[in-house]
Amino acid sequence: MTSNIHDLTRQSDDVVIVGGGLAGLFCALKLAPRPVTLISAAPLGEGASSAWAQGGIAAAVSEGDSAEAHATDTVAVGGGIVDEAIALSLAREAGARIHDLLHYGVPFDRDLEGRLAVGREAAHSARRIVHVRGDMAGKAIISALIEAVRRTPSIRVIEGLVAESLLTEDGAVTGLQLRKAHDTAARPVIIASRAIVLATGGIGHLYAVTTNPQEARGLGLALAARAGAVIADPEFVQFHPTAIMVGRDPAPLATEALRGEGATLINNNGERFMQAIHPLAELAPRDIVARGVFAELAAGRGAFLDARQALGPRFAERFPTVHASCLAGGLDPATQPIPIAPAAHYHMGGVAVDARGRSSIEGLWAGGEVSSTGAHGANRLASNSLLEAVVYAARIADDVAGQQIAAPASLPPLLVVPHNNAMSAQAARGLRQMMSANVGVVRDGEGLAEAVRSFAALERGAANMTLRNMATSALLVAASAWSRRESRGAHFRTDHPAENPALAHRTKTTLKAAIEVAETLDAAGIRIPQPMTA
Ligand SMILES: Cc1cc2nc3c(=O)[nH]c(=O)nc-3n(C[C@H](O)[C@H](O)[C@H](O)COP(=O)(O)OP(=O)(O)OC[C@H]3O[C@@H](n4cnc5c(N)ncnc54)[C@H](O)[C@@H]3O)c2cc1C
Repeated sequence: MTSNIHDLTRQSDDVVIVGGGLAGLFCALKLAPRPVTLISAAPLGEGASSAWAQGGIAAAVSEGDSAEAHATDTVAVGGGIVDEAIALSLAREAGARIHDLLHYGVPFDRDLEGRLAVGREAAHSARRIVHVRGDMAGKAIISALIEAVRRTPSIRVIEGLVAESLLTEDGAVTGLQLRKAHDTAARPVIIASRAIVLATGGIGHLYAVTTNPQEARGLGLALAARAGAVIADPEFVQFHPTAIMVGRDPAPLATEALRGEGATLINNNGERFMQAIHPLAELAPRDIVARGVFAELAAGRGAFLDARQALGPRFAERFPTVHASCLAGGLDPATQPIPIAPAAHYHMGGVAVDARGRSSIEGLWAGGEVSSTGAHGANRLASNSLLEAVVYAARIADDVAGQQIAAPASLPPLLVVPHNNAMSAQAARGLRQMMSANVGVVRDGEGLAEAVRSFAALERGAANMTLRNMATSALLVAASAWSRRESRGAHFRTDHPAENPALAHRTKTTLKAAIEVAETLDAAGIRIPQPMTA
């Protein structure tokens, strides 16, 4: 193919995977020896939530546990809208995928008899979290897979390019438009492909307080939505209740296991505020604890995780990762309470996919956190996300392998003007602050309406592709949260605090529908106090 556009197309039947986290790497390995180009915004091993996972992967692999029990637990936390058949099939495939990971060299912890060691996490009725060296699961899994990918000649890895637009023709994908990361002056480049797998992770970094890396700002979700893909459940965002507030962005995580060990949540007055909120106090479900912490902060009473009594001098040895994060922030958790806040952590919503990982656009698959399979409903069970990433990555590889992928007839045209203004740091900061303030742990109709209108204006006007894509994803989340007039799972509205049984179903939406919500609000004349500028 010839063109004056920089063309990265290698061969006509290349499968293009966007994302170098667990879903992307695993899918590429499963497709070998078929030619694959794997594109990652950040160098492999960086900029992926997968590498930061502390807990592990949920898998019913121990004696006495079963896939049925795992599925039951998944359904129980999902706010009544988990797709039960999907949850069961996910749990059933867990053993086979753990086996694959072992084959790729992941050194899962074992017990004295050599069996996989399994840990327990909140809301799991059995010990079923496979892990590596305590809290190092993500790092160890990703390191092993990167090594395996680097050894596989059929996989071409391109690092440092950000996908900014999906190119389509007659409802089918024809390629991707990309640009060098952190270089607004760079001209866009193009890669033609009839088979594209999105594995771009979540949206946490659209929030001012998050545990997610900077690359997790919803760009993959946005480019699918802008191409017309159906998006499912975008309003459901899980907030981790105990991000450590030591001035870092993203905020380091204080794992739930600390509360399991007896650490308490206190305010400035030393009061254990969760005791008045839930019979399980600090061990209440994640969304309830997040709202409890949020309420203390909103009331100006402060919120802290106090491990002085429960762990004291044992802290460093038991929780080395958290200990190091605290020390780097200038505090000693053995002798001082840790300042905390709820942080955007995981997106249950995403590109709607079927059981094979196919989106509504021909030739576009999505796997991992960017997708929405129905397995998590309105709230995710701990350690089910890495499981979902590997299960769907394998299914996508199977599905893609069974397809005849015809070469695009010619290089697809660029979708947007090639010039890209520098991203306005102020606009990006404003978007993130508005997501946290108006579309965060506690929401209401007025704040959501303001967010919808602001994000829609930014989506229309941004002269920087990254900012525009951030606004697209933010708009999808805010518009669906505005439309869901109830509270369910991680979605809590003060103006509709109860669950509405009539709304016990998943959301299926599009960017067009979200823009229509904004237009309706514009027509109603609801004021935007501070319009965002791009
Ligand atoms: C601190 C932390 C702890 C966690 N602990 C656990 C746990 O113990 N168990 C569990 O199951 N889950 C856990 N999760 C959630 C889990 O890690 C993620 O849901 C999962 O890793 C997502 O995998 P992924 O492959 O979909 O995305 P990621 O691992 O986030 O990878 C996304 C990739 O896409 C790339 N990318 C993004 N946008 C673009 C673009 N536009 N163009 C090109 N490349 C792009 C990124 O650079 C990255 O390579 C945790 C999350 C965090 C943040």
